[in-house]
Amino acid sequence: MHTVTEDLRSGMDQAVIDRAGEILRRGGLVAFPTETVYGLGADALDAQAAAKIYAAKGRPSDNPLIIHIADWEAIGRIVSEIPENAEKLARAFWPGPLTMILPKSDIVPLTTTGGLSTVAVRMPDHEIARALIRAGGGYIAAPSANTSGRPSPTKAAHVAEDLDGVIDMILDGGDVQIGLESTIVDLTDGTPVILRPGYINQEMLEKVIGSVGVDAALLGENVRPKAPGMKYRHYAPKAELFIVEGTRDQVRERIDALAEKAVREGKKPGIIGTDESKDYYTCGMVKSIGTRTDEITISQHLYSILREFDHSDISVIYSESFETPHMGQAIMNRLFKAAGHQVIKGQE
Ligand code: AMP
Ligand code: MG
Repeated sequence: MHTVTEDLRSGMDQAVIDRAGEILRRGGLVAFPTETVYGLGADALDAQAAAKIYAAKGRPSDNPLIIHIADWEAIGRIVSEIPENAEKLARAFWPGPLTMILPKSDIVPLTTTGGLSTVAVRMPDHEIARALIRAGGGYIAAPSANTSGRPSPTKAAHVAEDLDGVIDMILDGGDVQIGLESTIVDLTDGTPVILRPGYINQEMLEKVIGSVGVDAALLGENVRPKAPGMKYRHYAPKAELFIVEGTRDQVRERIDALAEKAVREGKKPGIIGTDESKDYYTCGMVKSIGTRTDEITISQHLYSILREFDHSDISVIYSESFETPHMGQAIMNRLFKAAGHQVIKGQE
């Protein structure tokens, strides 16, 4: 298959959106930007189209898709009930990086929900995404537009790297804003529960709907995560990845010592630091993920840095940890998964 890439970096083009919408209506696949990561879209109400998503990504069929809508009124057709909390959260955070799990209606195929009786719904905060959703029929299933097991794409080039020749079209809207997948909150079972941390954190949710829990699996307990996708190792870089924890100085000293030792052992170390620390390190391939004074620069670059290391001959990576005030839980959740939970304490 030939994949057409359309350049929308300098703005919207309705003729392009109409062509992309037509592809979706005919059951094809279009990758598009959102504020979180790039999504791989298909008509969510067409089981065959949704099945193509699983095939293109190599995604396990029990890992359900999020349905993207462009207008609040659209939600009524795909859920069997709209709890009051859903309305409150939508008013506060939609369009935005929040996905809600709700009981599904009959028209949503089980292929889209991975066999579940619930459905995940989100309204993205991105002009291109919402225009495409409307042009494509209003209900677009869109997981991250990467091959399963690779980091989520934060720019169109990442999508092409994984899916060129496999999907019909890529809409290039430039680099995404947040860089981590949406927060998922389950509203189907008593107290609302966060199944995946993201930009919208627990405190923000609690301000709107009161007490919100966190899935035990996210807190390190050895139980099955309630979001099926969270049980899969999201991504393992080619190089072994270690996260170093401690105070600022402990972390820097420890990483520098580890990198020196790696060099002595004939390995090629990589380091994930920040604008503040990158000049401190004395050896290894040092990459700055962003600045600690603006944590969104860290979330924005996490996945692209991991992809960059995969294109190098680095054999071991040491990363600082980023327990930042607002998105720390989400950033560290993704980083821990990529590292297979290998953590080194800064102080011996
Ligand atoms: P992605 O779109 O690639 O970011 O992945 C979607 C995430 O949402 C996966 O972790 C899914 O397991 C989760 N998800 C989607 N639908 C549901 C649902 N009905 N119940 C629980 N988790 C869901
Ligand atoms: Mg994904």
